[in-house]
Amino acid sequence: MAKPTILIVEDEAPLLTLLRYNLEKQGFRVEEATDGQEALLRVAESRPDLVLLDWMLPSLSGIEVCRQIRRKPATRDLPVIMVTARTEDQDAVRALDIGADDYITKPFVVDALLARIRALLRRSGTVAIKGTLSFLDLAMDQDAHRVTRAGRALHLGPTEYRLLEFFLSHPGRVFSREQLLDAVWGRDIHVEPRTVDVHIRRLRRAVNAEGEADIIRTVRSAGYALDLEDS
Ligand code: CA
Repeated sequence: MAKPTILIVEDEAPLLTLLRYNLEKQGFRVEEATDGQEALLRVAESRPDLVLLDWMLPSLSGIEVCRQIRRKPATRDLPVIMVTARTEDQDAVRALDIGADDYITKPFVVDALLARIRALLRRSGTVAIKGTLSFLDLAMDQDAHRVTRAGRALHLGPTEYRLLEFFLSHPGRVFSREQLLDAVWGRDIHVEPRTVDVHIRRLRRAVNAEGEADIIRTVRSAGYALDLEDS
């Protein structure tokens, strides 16, 4: 099977080197661009499977690059992960509004980025790529469709599996019921937000054994996160 190609658009040389090293180690082919104009050229020429796009770039901002990628029919569905150094939620929302599929804030943990890249490639269906997602003592083997906590096998329904897979791709991040509905059930399906609570309860029952810490955090009036209650 051909290696998936990731285009890294990044003007900070040390970060570019670090990302290239880690992505190649994970079996990806890497193309790079160091400014916005070059990014658009590379997208057209090397037809990447996913673009990792820095927000602040010389010549053309990441936002503008993303807009242009979305505007062209040939690249309309190209998966884009926006990399932002800003911590304001406002900017992250803007990245999603202009069509980025996901975003990650600098500084980030490389493993978290890799998990998101895999999740997005899988979701886009262009590349069949699987791996292992983990959080604390919880592990999900996506090839075998097996989930364990502290070595014990967990039995999850299909919806709980997808919910957990989504949480594992974004550990620590809080999602509203609506965001979870969009990501796990799909945008075109009408489901009551309360349905999310039902599946979260089932997921909790499945992952937390007697005496174990609850790793699904309820955030009052905001939603849920894969996180420890007191962290
Ligand atoms: Ca930059």
